[in-house]
Amino acid sequence: MPQDFVPGLLSRATEILEAQFGSLPPFQSDQDAAAIAQVLEGVARRLGDNYPYFHPLYAGQMLKPPHPVARAAYALAMNINPNNHARDGGRASSEMEIEAVRQIAAMFGWDEFLGHLTSSGTLANLEALWVAGQLAPGKRIVASEQAHYTHRRISAVLKLEFGEVAADNAGRMSLDALEAELARGDVGTVVATLGTTAAGAVDALDQILALRERYGFRVHVDGAYGGYFRLIPEALDEPARRAYAAIEQADSIVIDPHKHGLQPYGCGCVLFRDPAVGRFYKHDSPYTYFTSSQLHLGEISLECSRAGASAVALWATQQLLPLAPGGAFARDLARSRAAALELNRRLRTDPRERFQAPAVGVPELDIVVWKLAAETPEQASRLAHQIFVTCATNDLHLALVQLPQSWFALDGRATGLAGGGMVTCLRSVLMKPEHEAWLDRIWERFAAACEAVMGE
Ligand SMILES: *Cc1c(COP(=O)(O)O)cnc(C)c1O
Repeated sequence: MPQDFVPGLLSRATEILEAQFGSLPPFQSDQDAAAIAQVLEGVARRLGDNYPYFHPLYAGQMLKPPHPVARAAYALAMNINPNNHARDGGRASSEMEIEAVRQIAAMFGWDEFLGHLTSSGTLANLEALWVAGQLAPGKRIVASEQAHYTHRRISAVLKLEFGEVAADNAGRMSLDALEAELARGDVGTVVATLGTTAAGAVDALDQILALRERYGFRVHVDGAYGGYFRLIPEALDEPARRAYAAIEQADSIVIDPHKHGLQPYGCGCVLFRDPAVGRFYKHDSPYTYFTSSQLHLGEISLECSRAGASAVALWATQQLLPLAPGGAFARDLARSRAAALELNRRLRTDPRERFQAPAVGVPELDIVVWKLAAETPEQASRLAHQIFVTCATNDLHLALVQLPQSWFALDGRATGLAGGGMVTCLRSVLMKPEHEAWLDRIWERFAAACEAVMGE
């Protein structure tokens, strides 16, 4: 693990916090420090049973260590343990949430909006689709087959009919298939995913918005993973760049600070372009909305209790690393993107042609997927699995993903709709800023695993 300076950072900050409650009479709570220490040793032993998510050689799933300032701010807030449901439970952290969310909205070009943090991207999407359903009762929600699996489930929970739109061979929503759905006349909301979970594909939001002119529907952007790439248009290729440029015309946006935003889990965010949708949340609470006539966050969110510490950590992170194009946060994102392009280049130019990158489209962000060259999809899948396991025994952690075989068609069919069977592929999410500098070492271990599995 990297040198942990969080405990050192905390001592001075904790003193400052404590001093502000200095007028209270001191009190001791009856805790057995030795017993706690003993339990904690057991916890440490249990936690060793994990993949090393914090290390650059972990290049598998969407896991990015929280920034030290986020960890320290979160831990500092634990002295208070604020609840951002109401100002009665967390005055300072409610203010910090409002400020941090305003900065996220500004990244998308919005200064008037309604928004708040949630405990996850799933909850944030649920709120967006709940509002969509209130505005267009009885109409359908549609999303691409590559959209996050929770959209279907959320729709079921909300009792909204859900339609799946085919994706093309780049993993983007097929616009022809979307238009066929729209022609039925019952689509209330289209979910556009900017950064799919499997491959980081970016739906053509600009063109979906053009269809909105013609058919009239609500557009929800699921940027849970990819939202932050809005900060680095210069590092993206067309058509992804056009999609990101169009975000401000969406009706609602979800982004997960606990994915690319350097936050501990428990931090999603939903934004609505029209603040008037706040009317759907209107309710009273007989217990909590007393100490302030200002807005309580619980009055504009579906969840009740929520970690105020999440808002504190996010606020602190955005103080240190503002969400500005050209800033340090944006530069780190660009590093991830560069790492993905470099890995993709190496895969494509393998002199022995052992790897197949998708024929079109990806990587659009910092996720790389590739298939192993083999006679049959079954053999390719088996090889992927063997290489995945062999890499892991050598401390390189990749991921596996099921993708349509048609993505890898080398002939003219590559532009058509995805279809046919699935094949297990390797997948690497290069979301840590260190991944770029570690790419040679990642490649070395990957190449060694390939030799071991596929022969010299
Ligand atoms: C991760 C993800 C979600 C779900 O977010 P959670 O925070 O895991 O609940 C939704 N959509 C996309 C595109 C995602 O990548």
